[in-house]
This record gives sequence, structure tokens and C-alpha cells, in this order.
Amino acid sequence: MQSFQALGLAAPLVRALAEENYLTPTPIQTEAIPHVLAGRDLVGIAQTGTGKTAAFALPILHQLAAHPARSEPRACRVLVLSPTRELSGQILESFRVYGRHVRPTTALAIGGVSIGPQARALARGVDVLVATPGRLLDLMQSQAVRLDRVEVFVLDEADRMLDMGFIRDIRRIVTRLPAKRQTLFFSATMPGEIEALVGQLLRDPVRVAVTPSAKTVDRVEQRVLLVDRAAKGALLADVLRREPIDRALVFTRTKRGADRVVRGLQGAGIAAQAIHGNKSQNQRERVLAEFRDGRVRILIATDIAARGIDVDGISHVINYDLPNIPESYVHRIGRTARAGADGVAISFCDAEERPFLRDIERLIRMPIAATDLRREPHRAEPAARPPQQHRHRPSHGRANGKDHGRHQSGHGRAEPARGERREGQGGELSGVAFLQRKWNQGRGKRPNGNRRHAH
Ligand code: AMP
Repeated sequence: MQSFQALGLAAPLVRALAEENYLTPTPIQTEAIPHVLAGRDLVGIAQTGTGKTAAFALPILHQLAAHPARSEPRACRVLVLSPTRELSGQILESFRVYGRHVRPTTALAIGGVSIGPQARALARGVDVLVATPGRLLDLMQSQAVRLDRVEVFVLDEADRMLDMGFIRDIRRIVTRLPAKRQTLFFSATMPGEIEALVGQLLRDPVRVAVTPSAKTVDRVEQRVLLVDRAAKGALLADVLRREPIDRALVFTRTKRGADRVVRGLQGAGIAAQAIHGNKSQNQRERVLAEFRDGRVRILIATDIAARGIDVDGISHVINYDLPNIPESYVHRIGRTARAGADGVAISFCDAEERPFLRDIERLIRMPIAATDLRREPHRAEPAARPPQQHRHRPSHGRANGKDHGRHQSGHGRAEPARGERREGQGGELSGVAFLQRKWNQGRGKRPNGNRRHAH
């Protein structure tokens, strides 16, 4: 197996990694680090949770340590742009942790906090500046920072930057960077506009991909509960009570929806907190810190607010609303199953969300085991689903029990739902597992047929 040392990283970095208990590099790290050390431009197609931060931070730290240089006033040698304040903070923290024995100078430039201290932190110049685009532009405008000494430029989560409307800001920032630089570009997805940006910003880049579907299919146990819209609140409380949850991240489509879910859960005696763009920076940081240290077990978030939440040990992602952009589903469920752990993703799907579910299944190239919990089973379903799929109505306990989805064999299996007891080489299958197999047979696919190993 590859080691960090074998990738060519300096001893003080390898030591810091060992202290963090990082023993083997992740695939994106194995593939990216040698190229970045060799000075190449790089496009990394990888989502959060794959270890992409270390994939760029480590070789950058190596180069900084190998070629020390005195900082120029207001300048930085490395500029990292990320879409959110939280993510920026986490990236900076990664540089500090991995770089603790080489001690780079660092600064953070994010909105929502006063600009004065950030300008002062930059006054003597730093090795690494991590910034969100808006605040960086403000600092540029007030001449508090200059970008003409940047040696390495990192653009993280480029697709989110695009979604969040930062593309023009990025273009403005890039005009101030020296032409001779190394550019590292990370994005979970590569829509046409992002490809175009790659063409403009990078020179002969190496491409390294850790496809989201591989990670999704491999390590997250995914289930769908077909549900009437009005029943979602009660179902959520039920799921949260029954599932063995360490930390759950619950996604809603809107900020107001997030608050409504929190109130609903509180009414049911379940403590939860919301994080979204209407909250102050302080509130967001406090809630995130509580989620991280376990004081808050259930966090409700919108897609935008959840960007950059880098918390290990999320056992469950629950899609209270299904996203209308299928890539968001992949982003969401990638919050669980981080750093080698397994995770569970449960999606509530009402009648209006059925088309979203189909788009998601197309993207991840596999069906997701579905259980119908609607009061009135609707027989007229889209043709892609065999009719058995929707007649099955186990109790919530069964539908939500740990023993569904992938747990088709082995111990601790749930009793199959009534009418679902089956013959078969492996003994009976639990209701959903049976349906999943049936369904896959119906579609001519193996369960998890496109399984690939990302880790
Ligand atoms: P990222 O994709 O950069 O958000 O990283 C995901 C998580 O994996 C972070 O919590 C990292 O601390 C952790 N991580 C990154 N690389 C490794 C590694 N090689 N071994 C163990 N954990 C890692």
C-alpha cells in the first residue's frame, strides 16, 4: 500500500499526518500529490469527503517548506478560494494541522466578520491566504492585499462557486494573478461552464477523478421512503427515534422549511438545530461547533448552508425534501460515510418529487430501494417501477429499521414484512431487500451493479 512518504512528502508533514492518524492516502491524494509536487496544473473531480483538501494542502506545504521565501507586505504565496466561510475556515485549519511542523504563515479572508483584523493579518504578507471571493475583492479594493506574488492558486468547489453566482468575482480575481503560476482546480461535477473555466484558467492540466457515484454506491446505504407530503414531519420524528443515530444531517429545500422542521421536531420532543443563510455567522459557528462535539445530534440544513460542513461521524443523512438538482443528492449523502466510515441516507419522496428521484437514480446509475409508506397506495406509478414496489407497506419500524437496504444477509436481520417472506439461497430477505432484488432483476441490473472502489 502507498504511504504518504512514498508520495514524496517531506518528513515533518508525514509526521503531522501520523499524529492525525492518517495512515494511508486516499485515492485522490495518491493520484494528485505527485503531480502537484511536480508543479503541474491539476483538475480534481472530487467531492467533499474524499480527502481532497489534503490532496492540495500537503504538496503545497511541501513546496513552501522546500522553498522558503520572505513574505512581501500584503502578498501571499498561495491563494485558496472557496465558496463558503465555513469551508474556508476548515481549509485554513487543515493547512495549520498538516503544517504544524513547518509552520506556514496563514490568513483567512471571509465575510460576516470585520475586515480590519483581516487586513492587519495580511499587512506583513503570508504564505497561505484562504478566502471567499466577495471578501477577497473587498480587500483588493482597499489595497489590503496584492495577488501578484501568488505562486499557487487553488479554486475549491468550483461547481458550487458557479451555483452561488461567484463566477464573475472569480474572473475578476484571476485577472490580478500572475500568468506564471500553478493552478489547482477542484469540482465535484464538471458541467460545460466549469469545463470552459478550466480551459481559461489552467495550462495543460492533469485530470484526477474520484467519481461521486463510486463513493455513493460503495459506502452509503441508501433508502427512499415514498410518503405523502403532509406525513413527512411525523415520519421524520419516527425515523429519528428508531434509527441508531450518532449525528444526523437533515436537508430541506428552503430556509423556512428548515425552521419549520426544527419546530416540528421540538414539538415531538426531539432537540434539533437549523443552520442556514439567515443565521448570523456567530450562530452558525456555534451550532456547527455543537454538532461537531455532539451536543447537537440533529442538524437541519439547506444545500447552500451545508456546503463546507466538514464534520466526521455523520451516521445519517436524511433528505426531508429531495433536491431538484441530482448532483445535490450526491453532495448531500457524501456528508456521511466519510473517511472510511459507512453511512445511511434516507430520502423522503412525495408525489411531486418522483421526477427528482428518477433523475437521481439516473445520475448514480442505480435504483434506490424504496418503501411505500403512503396511506393510499397509488397504483398508477411510472412505468419504470414494477408494481410490487408500491404495494408493500410495512410498519414504520420495518421501513426504517437498520436491516434494510444492503443488509441482505448476515445476522440481526429484521423479520420480513408480511407477504414478503421469500425462498432463496440466502434465506429470507427483509422486505426492502427483497424488493430491491426484485426491482434490480426487473431492470436487468445487479444490486449496486456499478460498484466501484473509491477507497
Ligand atoms: P475532505 O474531502 O478534504 O473534506 O476530507 C474529508 C475528511 O477525511 C476530513 O475530515 C479529513 O480530516 C479526513 N481525511 C483526509 N485524508 C485522510 C486520510 N488519508 N486518512 C484519514 N482521514 C483523512
